[in-house]
Amino acid sequence: MSTSEQTTDPLAGFVEKAPLERYVAPATPSLVGLSRAELAEALASVGVPASQRRMRTQQIWNWLYARGATGFEQMTSVSKELRAALAEKFTLARPEVVAEQVSVDGTRKWLLRLPSENPGERPHEVECVYIPETDRGTLCVSSQVGCTLTCSFCHTGTQRLVRNLTAGEIVGQVMLARDRLGDWSARAAPQGAPQGEPEAGTAPKEGGRLITNVVMMGMGEPLYNFEAVRDALLIVADNEGIGISKRRITLSTSGVVPNIARAGAEIGVMLAISLHAVRDELRNELVPLNRKYPIAELLEACRNYPGLTNAKRITFEYVMLKGVNDSLADAKALVKLLKGIPAKINLIPFNPWPGSRYECSDWEQIEKFSEYVFSAGYSSPVRTPRGRDILAACGQLKSVTEKLSARERMALRAMAMTD
Ligand code: SAH
Ligand code: SF4
Repeated sequence: MSTSEQTTDPLAGFVEKAPLERYVAPATPSLVGLSRAELAEALASVGVPASQRRMRTQQIWNWLYARGATGFEQMTSVSKELRAALAEKFTLARPEVVAEQVSVDGTRKWLLRLPSENPGERPHEVECVYIPETDRGTLCVSSQVGCTLTCSFCHTGTQRLVRNLTAGEIVGQVMLARDRLGDWSARAAPQGAPQGEPEAGTAPKEGGRLITNVVMMGMGEPLYNFEAVRDALLIVADNEGIGISKRRITLSTSGVVPNIARAGAEIGVMLAISLHAVRDELRNELVPLNRKYPIAELLEACRNYPGLTNAKRITFEYVMLKGVNDSLADAKALVKLLKGIPAKINLIPFNPWPGSRYECSDWEQIEKFSEYVFSAGYSSPVRTPRGRDILAACGQLKSVTEKLSARERMALRAMAMTD
């Protein structure tokens, strides 16, 4: 898998912090993240004759993505010779978990270590979060280490180090979450994983699975890592494998307009737009990418997103910033702006972090805003912050690659816990 051309987009120099570097894969590559065609190539490279490749690809695909095999020895329907040949050249490695934290509300956050693009350099770290609710379990997946964009209210945006994740590292997050939660149907749950009757904060197993939904809302801008995100999501959605349907996968973007059409054509998952402001002047400040792709262009791309109906709407995310974007006039303008687009509005209480210049809107104001939007016919759930005590809430993800001091960490946690 190669990094895409988008990955080196200099973003016209106005929001870029660090150039995206090329990724060099570890010496022994993992099969995790390979498409069927790439798996067939891997099989060819260990000498599987062309006449058998299709069948063998199906077999390995099933072991890998439907059953979650973590070692070649588990692939009992594959000959010993082929297993040995594969094990010599490949692994089934997922990103390495360096820490697991469980919130009082059941949210789980995994800190993952990924190899640096330069051998010998410090590895990178990203985070992946599982959020259990009564009717679903959502996995929040990262697409980049850090983010080249610099939204002024987002902690991830302050991180300097950036590299794109590979498709394997993206699919690998879903797979390791299934490993840790015991969420592969054919395998027993590991010790410590939620089992049986759901306890507080663990989702009931719907259709036998804990992870029912995937959101690309972790670290990074998924549409600036287009190919890897596309390849990964097509694997996650494949119903002969991980099998999470496209209707249950949401890709959130800050508004990379040209790639919205591509996402519609080449991925076809649900779309969420981080709108956050109804005027270009304010959005330029909150989401600097708006200077490149202003609101009118962004909404035009949304109108053209394929397959929109009342049952398949675009979610518009709107972070509630006290005195900045939370007036009733803003709510009215928002409703006007979205006219004609099948839309849901998701109000996100701002999650503060040390050094952030914003405050979360007062609860009363959030309610007023939400009521107005609701009375105009939009579903407008206010997203309950989850996992605040383990810094897993929206916009709080920032890996320890850039070490926070103990004091900063305590301050962050204290801020996160105050309502
Ligand atoms: N880069 C993508 C996806 C990751 S961010 C995007 O921007 O859409 C997921 C959501 O969390 C986005 O809507 C983002 O704007 C929001 N967010 C970022 N920082 C936040 C914060 N401090 N408080 C609340 N929401 C935040
Ligand atoms: Fe990047 Fe999204 Fe954070 Fe903006 S909100 S800095 S696009 S992760």
